[in-house]
This record gives sequence, structure tokens and C-alpha cells, in this order.
Amino acid sequence: MKVLITGAAGFIGSHLVEKFLIQGWDVVGLDNLLTGKLENIEDYFQEPNFTFIKYDVTNFLYVKGKLDLILHFACPASPVHYMKHPIHTMKVDSLGTLHALGLAKEKGARFVLASSSEVYGDPEVSPQDENYRGNVSLTGPRSVYDEAKRFSEALAMAYFRQHRVDVRIARIFNTYGPRMDPDDGRVIPTFIKQALLKEPITVFGDGTQTRSFCYIKDMVEGIYRLSTKEGISGEVFNLGNPEERTIIEVAQLIKALTSSPSPIVFKPLPQDDPKRRKPSIEKAKKILGWKPKYSLEEGLKEAMPWFRGKILGS
Ligand code: UDP
Repeated sequence: MKVLITGAAGFIGSHLVEKFLIQGWDVVGLDNLLTGKLENIEDYFQEPNFTFIKYDVTNFLYVKGKLDLILHFACPASPVHYMKHPIHTMKVDSLGTLHALGLAKEKGARFVLASSSEVYGDPEVSPQDENYRGNVSLTGPRSVYDEAKRFSEALAMAYFRQHRVDVRIARIFNTYGPRMDPDDGRVIPTFIKQALLKEPITVFGDGTQTRSFCYIKDMVEGIYRLSTKEGISGEVFNLGNPEERTIIEVAQLIKALTSSPSPIVFKPLPQDDPKRRKPSIEKAKKILGWKPKYSLEEGLKEAMPWFRGKILGS
């Protein structure tokens, strides 16, 4: 079996490369290295079943030979990154998704879209289940990502309905773990870096906004099940950990786990920062037989040696 993974050098993409290689698949990884890093996948370069192609999926996409599965994971995912590259973000989730879907149609391959909890915007209901239609700003700074992911979902469903491509959509909620770029601005790597360097931990707003954090190993297992299960064409699944935490709690937890003397300081809340985010994962539990195993404490403890090595070099 052969899988093409776009965004293979990214945080989640690189863990998917590892998972599919372990499961005996031939893996072709694609990345333009805008936000992905070669070091995330350098361990797999000597694997005979792994091929890496540096490529930007906003260009016409073709891969020789058969393909059974395409995982479309290319896209800057951190708010700092996608606001720095707003137009490329919109291109990758429009032109890039179009090219990846066209290739899936051509090869008769299954197609898995990495969508996001951002399609729910600043939700008015909690928890968010797959039927919730969201509360998204069309023009705010986050719209380049939110609307692009919504467009990608609509396009994927059009390929499912018109061309019968076996499409599945994963709405991925906040995920963390090794290989997250400590400088990408997302809350967990930022707080860990600040705590380890004994710098102030920067909570935005009053810290009462919530997120629900899923450990990468749990997320990869969920994506693998969604990718390999038969009979779920055209289905959308929330994947995430429903354990909801305030950002101030996360700051305190990371400070405690690192025994850091860092003070917690408050900075202005970015525009349109969602107030709450908590997935309902009832559908994934029932149909995929999946639920996260790691609590936030367990995941952070397991990931901490990697972050220490990366940030402190020890
Ligand atoms: N956040 C924070 N301090 C930081 C970075 C982020 O308080 O240094 C907050 C941010 O305002 C948001 C939450 O943490 O409420 C999660 O932010 P992140 O960028 O990780 O992802 P998001 O869930 O907003 O896409």
C-alpha cells in the first residue's frame, strides 16, 4: 500500500510518516519547507520505503505510479505562521487541496483532509460536534485559515459527491508534542520555552479562554483509524481531547512541571481569539473506536525531554 503525505515535514505530517512506515506502507512525503522542517523527517531518509520530494502543492501535482491514499496535511497551522503567510495559506487550502483531490481522482486513491477546529471559529456552543456550523469571521485576521479550511472541506465533499472520491475529513483540535517548533507561537511550545529559559510566561487576555489539548500519539492513532477504516466515505470526524483547560491553568501547569521561577504576565488578547474550544468526540468513539489516552499532564511529561533537548540542548 502506498500513501502520499503532503506537509510531511510538518509537526503532524512527520509523525504520520513514521506511523505509516511502521505499518509497512510505502510513503511519499511532500513539503515545500515553508513551515515544515527537514530535521523532522531526517530519521526516515534511509528507509527504503520512504521518498521525500520538496514541492509546493499550490503547483500542479503529479506523482508517478499507484497511490492508495493521500493525506493532505500541507498548510501553515500556527496562527503566527498563517497570519505571516496569509495568501500562501489561502492558496494551499484552495489550489493545493484542488490539486491533491485531482490526484486522488486520477489514481483512485482515498483522500483524507486535515481540517481544523478553526472551522467552528469562535463557537457559541460547547462542546462542538460535527453538525455545528461555526461562528467564523469572513474577513478577520484568522479568516485566511478558517475560511480556507472551510473551502477545502466543501471542495473535498464536491469531489466525493461528483466524482465518488473516497473522502474523509478530520477536524483536528489543538495538538502538541515533540517536533512542534518552539518558535511557532503556539501556546504549549511557547510556554515551555519561556518556562525553561526562565523568561516571563505570556498569557494573552485574562487567560480564561479555553482549549482542549490532544497529545500527538493519540492524534496520530485517530488519523490512522480514520484513514484505514472501510465504509466512512464522505464522513467528517472531530479528533481531539475533550479535556478542556483555561490558558492560565496551562501556564501554571507548565510552570509547575518545569519547576520554573518564571513569572506569569498578561498581554493583550489577539483579535478574534476564540473564547472556548472543546470537541465532542462521540462520533469518533462510536465509529472509529478511538479516544485519547493521554491526559495533558501525561502528554506534557512525556514530551518534556524532547523540548528540553531542543530548547536547552540537554
Ligand atoms: N496564547 C497565550 N500566550 C501565548 C500564545 C498563545 O496566551 O504566548 C493563547 C492564545 O491567545 C489562545 C491560546 O493560547 O487563546 C491557544 O493559542 P494557539 O496559538 O496555541 O492556538 P489556537 O488554538 O488559538 O489556534
